[in-house]
Amino acid sequence: MTIDGKPAVTTETFDVVNPATGAVEAQAPECSIEQLNEAMDAAQRAYESSWRTDESARREALRAVADAIEAHHDELTELLILESGKPATFAHMENQGAPPWWRYYADMDLPRSVVVDDATAFVEQVYRPLGVVAAITPWNGPLGLAGWKIAPALRAGNTVVIKPSPFTPLSTLRLGEIMAGILPPGVVNVVSGGDKIGAAMTSHPIPRKISFTGSIEAGRHIAVSGIRDFKRITLEMGGNDAAILLDDIDVEKAVQALVPLTTMNCGQICAIPKRIFAPAALYDQVVDAFTAAYDRIVVGAPYDEGTQMGPLSTKPQFDRIKDLVSDAKSAGARVTAGGGPLDGNGYFFRPTVLADVAEGVRIVDEEQFGPALPILKYDSIDDAVARANNTEFGLCGSAWSSDPDRAAAVAQQLEVGTTFVNAHAILPPHIPFSGAKASGLGVSNGLAGLLGFTEPQVIHRVRA
Ligand code: NAD
Repeated sequence: MTIDGKPAVTTETFDVVNPATGAVEAQAPECSIEQLNEAMDAAQRAYESSWRTDESARREALRAVADAIEAHHDELTELLILESGKPATFAHMENQGAPPWWRYYADMDLPRSVVVDDATAFVEQVYRPLGVVAAITPWNGPLGLAGWKIAPALRAGNTVVIKPSPFTPLSTLRLGEIMAGILPPGVVNVVSGGDKIGAAMTSHPIPRKISFTGSIEAGRHIAVSGIRDFKRITLEMGGNDAAILLDDIDVEKAVQALVPLTTMNCGQICAIPKRIFAPAALYDQVVDAFTAAYDRIVVGAPYDEGTQMGPLSTKPQFDRIKDLVSDAKSAGARVTAGGGPLDGNGYFFRPTVLADVAEGVRIVDEEQFGPALPILKYDSIDDAVARANNTEFGLCGSAWSSDPDRAAAVAQQLEVGTTFVNAHAILPPHIPFSGAKASGLGVSNGLAGLLGFTEPQVIHRVRA
């Protein structure tokens, strides 16, 4: 781990499993409560240093981290592949996507606005950093999501203690070592361990902000724990995104665009279509097109040439997908592609399409987070929109039509943070990203994402 700019060795460790083989590949450090306290103390000391006031040093540091991630790209990507099972081409692409976040926030200015400027007073609103940020990430995009949190937190003048998922700690731990060569001691501390150490971070008295990405269940615990001493809280949680296909679509074209999205990262992305709504008149055609496309997907080991989809990233997730598919089958769903795991020790699952399935079946009602896609039949647009909205989830959604205006009118009715027209899952650093309903609290990315790591302050000067 990295605490106060130095390597920190633990007495306890835990296994890191390669999901492509099922074999234990590494031992990761299990942070003790004493070490967590040291990390929090170091972050607090760093916050009280000139870090908070020296804007140009902070901008330069962010740019230097972006450069260092690029310089260490191959090494970081190998670790990511080992711990997550992502196909090499996808893992490279994912890590190439990380530095833009650091550079985007390095260039961004914190707003300062004049609210009153008259004979009586000069009143400005500025944004102050909060202090120490406790950042907690999931296993599906470790390095990218670390940047989503650390870059804006540092730009605003905060310091950070970050904990990656126990399933994928290696790339973030290495990033911590790399950052220690760039940032002042204590500015970013990287610890690792299970959910218990995460819970200790969110109830710890030092952090003034929690930035969490993960499941709704954990988010609920974190919100309750963090609010006791009024920590500021940003939660990015699960989604069960609907993609509504309108009756004028070119089926082949729409399905060709949708399949890389629904199967991206083996279906383990928060903001991808997870429920397809197809009009009754086109239902069979849509199912056939998805079936043919899913049957063509090459599932294989991360470094095998031609691999399009790797294994599920964790054993619990692999078991969950098996359960959800067998539950759907016993509820009468028709499996038109895939339907079960591949032989072998890795967590490989065949890309699966489920037809004749509707609400009341777990794979429709819950977030599957894997390569099994339910296709739902609808009778009217109103019916599709109502059913798409009839869920606690509210991350993203999309509507697909040959007429973008028609699709936009449907998309706008979705109760979600981001709604797309003839697209889905476009998440660049400059576009604010937030979940509606139980999918999130607060905003990531864009200016709003930066402001989430600050507190507004009014400076009110009376004029004599
Ligand atoms: P998870 O909630 O099990 O774990 C996420 C992180 O939280 C891990 O580091 C874990 O150790 C920690 N944690 C768990 N319980 C905790 C607690 N009580 N207190 C503090 N920390 C705790 O989620 P996961 O299985 O790693 O990730 C999958 C989920 O993440 C999916 O639901 C997915 O949709 C969601 N996700 C959301 C976004 C988004 O931007 N909205 C992005 C990626 C993933």
